[in-house]
Amino acid sequence: MIQFILFGPPGSGKGTQAAKLAEKYDLYHISTGDLFRSETANKTTLGLKALEYMSQGQLVPDEITIGMLKNKISNLSEVSGFIYDGFPRTNPQAEALDCLLQESNQAIDLLLSLEVPEDEIVKRILNRGKTSGRPDDNDEAIIRKRIQVYLDETSIVFEHYAKLGKSRHINGIGTIEEIFERLCFELDQICK
Ligand code: AMP
Repeated sequence: MIQFILFGPPGSGKGTQAAKLAEKYDLYHISTGDLFRSETANKTTLGLKALEYMSQGQLVPDEITIGMLKNKISNLSEVSGFIYDGFPRTNPQAEALDCLLQESNQAIDLLLSLEVPEDEIVKRILNRGKTSGRPDDNDEAIIRKRIQVYLDETSIVFEHYAKLGKSRHINGIGTIEEIFERLCFELDQICK
């Protein structure tokens, strides 16, 4: 079973690429952002709590995020692997994921980090905001806050898996197909 993290700042193309990779490699795509948005749309207690943080460009607290992820994973069976998109976003989340996988004698196989410069990210997210309907995609101050949170709290997760020799940088500039090819090249190495 493949355990793969698609990493990178907001707007780096994780969602688009994760959907394509999930299809090609038959992986179950878990996006914590999508899970939160679905909870919010259904106006659940968890969703309304998460919205307080999401609308400010802040991370939802680890306790809530980890609980939701565990709940999602434990209700799945018969999948051939996972692609994590937008999770883990803090070191405690990475440690919780490692512990969870360890319970079934598994571990993260690979983390690929999409590298995109900040100004390009802001441009992409504002453009996505025209159609995504996401309030956090329409306000440049909130977008810049999300990037800052990524730099301050999330980017260190790369090091957590780099220490285990699992992390790689991927150039996130180019067409969707070009970036997809770069990701596939790396995934093919572990899927052999
Ligand atoms: P995304 O769709 O991945 O850009 O996530 C949208 C928002 O959901 C983020 O800005 C956070 O507020 C929240 N979120 C998503 N994933 C996580 C996570 N792993 N930890 C904390 N907050 C998260």
